[in-house]
Amino acid sequence: MNFPPLKITFLGTGTSSGVPMIGCPCEVCASADPKDNRLRSSILVQSPSTSIVVDATPDFRAQMLNYKITHIDALLITHPHKDHVAGIDDTRPFQFFTGKATKVYGNHQSLNGIKKEIPYAFEEIRYPGVPAIELHEISLEPFSIGDIPITPIEVWHHKMKVYGFRFGKFTYITDANKIAAEEREKILGSECIVLNALRHQSHISHFSLSEAINVVNELGVPKAWFTHISHQLGLHKEISPGLREGIGLAYDGLTLSL
Ligand SMILES: [Zn+2]
Ligand SMILES: [Zn+2]
Ligand SMILES: [Zn+2]
Repeated sequence: MNFPPLKITFLGTGTSSGVPMIGCPCEVCASADPKDNRLRSSILVQSPSTSIVVDATPDFRAQMLNYKITHIDALLITHPHKDHVAGIDDTRPFQFFTGKATKVYGNHQSLNGIKKEIPYAFEEIRYPGVPAIELHEISLEPFSIGDIPITPIEVWHHKMKVYGFRFGKFTYITDANKIAAEEREKILGSECIVLNALRHQSHISHFSLSEAINVVNELGVPKAWFTHISHQLGLHKEISPGLREGIGLAYDGLTLSL
């Protein structure tokens, strides 16, 4: 299969509360290093002709403005937790300019979550100006948006099954603490993987740093970047140099070419 060249931009790399966290006096939250400033986790995936944003975080508006994103072909949703869908109302300006609904792709669970997140967008008689959303239900079957082929990967997020996605040579998994053997098969051969690594201590629904490193080693993917990071992980400049070659802590604004 032929894959288009992809550019990945990290629009956010923080856990659900973001970093800094409101009211927190810790050194990470007080850090002046931009790499310790993390909006909620999301990426922009671009081929020469197609732009997809993965997840609509509570920081969606700031992310579109920060990275001067003036057009998206679709939103792709990993799961309906608040930090991944809260920004969906802020897609409205795209609709003002194009006159078209925003296409949103997700599994049944994610689309249901979106209907609960912005129920007013799905009523029969809608208030003028509410978001125009076109829902596209996906399953574990591979599909394409524009010229970007996508393979969903089902992972465990505590007791919830959520989606990660493989785009050609690039795999993105943002909220997981376990990946079953048959789903790992889909990741093999990726050149680059993004995984969540919340903090040092183990967590009920997220990989810790050491667990994420183990997964990368087990999969044998040559390049890995960690995301969905908590202030509890520590300062970027202290944690990052301790990681082995091929593994890095992602930060907002990081771009990758594949
Ligand atoms: Zn999350
Ligand atoms: Zn803090
Ligand atoms: Zn989650």
